Amino acid sequence: MLGILCNNGYSITQDPKTASIIIVNTCAVKQITEDKIFKKLQKMKNHSKPIIITGCLPKINRQRITDSHLDHCSLLDPASIDKIYDMANKCLQERVQNIIFSKQPPNKPSLPRRRLNKYIEILQISEGCQGKCSYCCTRFARGRLHCFPPKTILKQIQKAIAENIVEIQLTAQDTASYNYRGYNLSDLLRDISAVKGDFKVRIGMMNPDTVLKFLDEIIDAYENEKIYKYLHIPIQSGSNRILKLMKRRNTVDDFLSIMNIFRSHFPTISIATDIIVGFPSETQKDFEETLNLIKMMRPDVINISKYAPRPGTEASKMKQLDSRIVASRSRILSKHVGHIIKDKHMKMLGSYEEINPIERTSRGTLFGRTHNYKKAFIDDVVPIGKKIRVKIIEAHQRRLDCKVLDPEVLQNP
Ligand code: SF4
Repeated sequence: MLGILCNNGYSITQDPKTASIIIVNTCAVKQITEDKIFKKLQKMKNHSKPIIITGCLPKINRQRITDSHLDHCSLLDPASIDKIYDMANKCLQERVQNIIFSKQPPNKPSLPRRRLNKYIEILQISEGCQGKCSYCCTRFARGRLHCFPPKTILKQIQKAIAENIVEIQLTAQDTASYNYRGYNLSDLLRDISAVKGDFKVRIGMMNPDTVLKFLDEIIDAYENEKIYKYLHIPIQSGSNRILKLMKRRNTVDDFLSIMNIFRSHFPTISIATDIIVGFPSETQKDFEETLNLIKMMRPDVINISKYAPRPGTEASKMKQLDSRIVASRSRILSKHVGHIIKDKHMKMLGSYEEINPIERTSRGTLFGRTHNYKKAFIDDVVPIGKKIRVKIIEAHQRRLDCKVLDPEVLQNP
């Protein structure tokens, strides 16, 4: 949306006071995020400027927008981002509520873009999913699976590399379900890896059931050194009973076998997973199964969500657990995970990495990613965007601190 607006003569400000239109780009996957957004919207309510609410919220909880007396805000859904310029003009012309919802997304990789980090290209390869998870409201906003043509994706990647980006992030609701007329994720990865240039690719979340369908091909594609050794595979619960109620299409054993195969091919791979604690009817035994799974799998990254009902979902109609039980289970799980991640980072102490820094932090430190997508910070004075060899000298729960090696060691660590 920024790319389209800037290409058409608009400029961007972060300050609502100097803006002529306010765009609130929303996420409504979790109750807690939705609440924060409504708090912001309430604060802006009396602004004299037109407000456009974009992102998933208009499709997920339009009722709450009405109930909160925000009917003067215009609404644009995720499938209509190419229409943001028309919407902005409409809003400036007339103070009425404009609504633009589209049936199908545009070819998103072909749209103009403005990178928030000039070294990172974020590229959405598909929209929507094939799932029907009983807790999920994302599918109401993103719809059924729609894959963007590989030709456009590859063209955009070549353009980005010519503009010196060093990291490509492939995103989707489920990257493993990418399939454009028989051309699947592994085909895409193979073609991306063949593009000349010094860059790495981070593959976004993949659901276990879709990974299983192409497991060997995906493993093959991961062999390429341009692919970060990072696998984001959500399990959500360690209890098969709960997975069934969640309408996930995999079992705990499916998940474990994928993880074990990846680890046997890439022993240092980082594995990220997502857990929802306190799903309706989750018993202490179900929760302990989740806890045991996490202790056994030893993830590198874990996103823990406290279950909260979302509008229109099947799970919102089930009997809900006491919120104190949910909060306490979330605390217990977080505590265990913290120890595991720190311990894994400690094992990386003293090892060498080749890093392409992508950002300078406000403290002046450089930030980049290790081969397995761990956050690496470097205090030494080196230019950004230039590949360096480093040694990991300190390990923390959320990051690794590194030191640049002298030229001699650089060549011969
Ligand atoms: S796979 Fe399930 S959780 Fe993911 S977006 Fe689709 S319905 Fe939601």
